[in-house]
Amino acid sequence: MSGRIWLSPPDVGPLEESYLLSALRSGWVAPLGPEVDAFERELARRVGVADAVALSSGTAGLHLALLALGAGPGQVVVVPTLTFVATANAVVYTGAEPVFVDCDPATGNLDPALLRQLLAELDREGRTVAAVVPVDMFGSCADYDRILPVCAEFGVPVVEDAAEALGSTRRGRAAGSFGRAGVLSFNGNKIITTSGGGMVVSDDTELVARCRHLATQARQPAVHYEHAEVGYNYRLSNLLAAIGRAQLHRLDLMVDRRRRLREKYAKLFAARPGVRLLADDDAGANCWLTVVVVDPGAAGWRAGELAAHLAGQDIETRPVWQPMHRQPVYACARALLSGAADQLFADGLALPSGSGMTESQIARTLETIDAFVEAK
Ligand SMILES: *Cc1c(COP(=O)(O)O)cnc(C)c1O
Repeated sequence: MSGRIWLSPPDVGPLEESYLLSALRSGWVAPLGPEVDAFERELARRVGVADAVALSSGTAGLHLALLALGAGPGQVVVVPTLTFVATANAVVYTGAEPVFVDCDPATGNLDPALLRQLLAELDREGRTVAAVVPVDMFGSCADYDRILPVCAEFGVPVVEDAAEALGSTRRGRAAGSFGRAGVLSFNGNKIITTSGGGMVVSDDTELVARCRHLATQARQPAVHYEHAEVGYNYRLSNLLAAIGRAQLHRLDLMVDRRRRLREKYAKLFAARPGVRLLADDDAGANCWLTVVVVDPGAAGWRAGELAAHLAGQDIETRPVWQPMHRQPVYACARALLSGAADQLFADGLALPSGSGMTESQIARTLETIDAFVEAK
């Protein structure tokens, strides 16, 4: 037994090192430069959209995409209750009000039927809905076949929170490309990392230009630094963009490793009653995190017990995101709930899923889980 096994640590090596060094040596040590331009181009091509703007975080991307769609005070933005807090916080930054919707228990993704019910209610109340922000949960694309028509029916634009889903597809279409804008994250634990970073991607080049302008202190194209509105300092460093380009080169390989790991977990749990993987029926997921859902009655044990057993062997796991309606900061927010997110929070567990896991770390993790389940 040697060393802690983390949930999803950064997977970086000699390629990232060489890209970073050459960016440093080029003298472009600033939040702009050729690496930023190339990273934006390459990522837009990968997602299959016209344009992209590289930013300091995915959270900044959500903030700017919502601002670009006109979100502001007096308006509503619909967000899944099962998500990382950044999705909701970005709404609050704009002055709009986040309203939460529950998820599909099978996938953890936004429930399209509940979404329709909520948009109809908001419509009857005369509320202005600036956007719906579906999240591609743990790397599985939301059900856009049903979500997009519902949003179109009410004339509400979609901002896809694809922070966890770079490299995923649904029916052959890439994550990030489903809405008016998509947002990606390159935080340290995501599928690719720049240590911290994010991107807004879109076919709407004006929207991307608007985000770029706001991210650059809303500086007008004049030598004397003219500003007609309040902007932000949200651009990505050229050094970090270089790391991102190296990571993007290795994306397919890293996705492949996460998928093979999920297959191993699936095989291990297949014969066990009361345990399922949180997953979508489309094979296009990048498998960012593999989540098991445990029915304690059928399995004879709880997800939390497996978590404690693994922690005792220095193996990190994590519950699924605590739903937003359970967060003290959003306890008073409006929410349309079915109980599905609460159930997944109680019964779900994210297992070590990193693309850099060694064969021996994988074997140790599987053996430790197996020993726990056998003893039950
Ligand atoms: C990671 C994440 C974000 C935020 O991205 P940062 O780059 O960390 O700001 C937003 N939404 C979801 C669903 C995420 O998982």
